[in-house]
Amino acid sequence: MLNPGPVTLTSCVRAALSRGDWCHREPEFAQLTQDINARLAKVYPDMESSFDAVMMTGSGTASVEAMLNTFAPRDSETLVLANGVYGERMADMLAAQGKPHFVAEVPWLEQMDLTQLPGILDQQDGITHIVTVHHETTTGRLNDLGGLGQICRERDLKLLLDGVSSFGAEAIDADAWNLAAVAGTANKCLHGVPGISFVLARKSLWNGGESLASSVYLDLNSYHRSQHADGASPFTQAVQVVFALQEALVELDDQGGWQARGQEYRKRADAIADCLDGLGVTTLLPRDEYSAVLWSYELPDGWTYGGVHDALKQDGFVIYGGQGDLGSRIFRIAHMGDITDADLERLCLALDACFSGAAR
Ligand SMILES: *Cc1c(COP(=O)(O)O)cnc(C)c1O
Repeated sequence: MLNPGPVTLTSCVRAALSRGDWCHREPEFAQLTQDINARLAKVYPDMESSFDAVMMTGSGTASVEAMLNTFAPRDSETLVLANGVYGERMADMLAAQGKPHFVAEVPWLEQMDLTQLPGILDQQDGITHIVTVHHETTTGRLNDLGGLGQICRERDLKLLLDGVSSFGAEAIDADAWNLAAVAGTANKCLHGVPGISFVLARKSLWNGGESLASSVYLDLNSYHRSQHADGASPFTQAVQVVFALQEALVELDDQGGWQARGQEYRKRADAIADCLDGLGVTTLLPRDEYSAVLWSYELPDGWTYGGVHDALKQDGFVIYGGQGDLGSRIFRIAHMGDITDADLERLCLALDACFSGAAR
């Protein structure tokens, strides 16, 4: 699996799915819930003392939407910085929630121009929150959260971050970025199964006050209230997916945490890009602008995504296409999951056979 989630599972994570038939209202599941939340809060050890995690049933989009639903304000403005599908989707969410927001759209192939940001903030009155994507999976770009976070900190703007495709593999410097909350999912860099997602938010933001939410299921305050009291959840959780997530979090820890995982991904990225480079297939962005998690490649002349996809699938590999206008221009390869060096060698042979063959 070389798509951006779900990922190739380890056999222990897959086996955890059949741990048993449990009721989500029983104390053993409550305990499991609190164990998961505690493990999530210390994936980044610096965050453990100041953030609480809550988990919910739903894909990554559910946790992103719930984060905005719960924490984006109604009486002040949220600035959305978007340079891809996922940033633009967050603007759609705020629109659906009827929350005041202003979108600064950046062309998908470009970095955010942070020199423009102070001007926008001065011009556009009443911005208190900034929303963006850490790793914009549309292109593979790792956005400059260091630069953006510094501005958030200087101006005391709360940062709400889509970390769905970075949490567990890329650095998150919560204090330096003035991070208020980050959303993530089980089935990307954490190597779990799809169906559970989560949000980490500062302890001071979980209040019992009036809810900002415009829906019931996606109001994280109710999850926080019950999960951090007795471990209960307001709605039925994907019990077996939680078993798998626990095993995946144990394995992440055993393997050296997010740093080691990011390093491993970067090794895979370089190996794949070197192999493709030798075949005349080039990256869409300069290499140093990518995350460790996923890179994008220009389709060579005469190739469609379907042609590359089908050739590789015959050899046992699932890759990913581009979105929007990039659909006819790129393919994407993600580096997450239980991938071995032998898999990478086989992939290289498959890529070689594909691109050295007749163009299609
Ligand atoms: C995968 C992803 C999501 C969520 O996608 P789901 O299909 O809902 O899991 C959100 N943001 C980013 C950046 C992603 O890569």
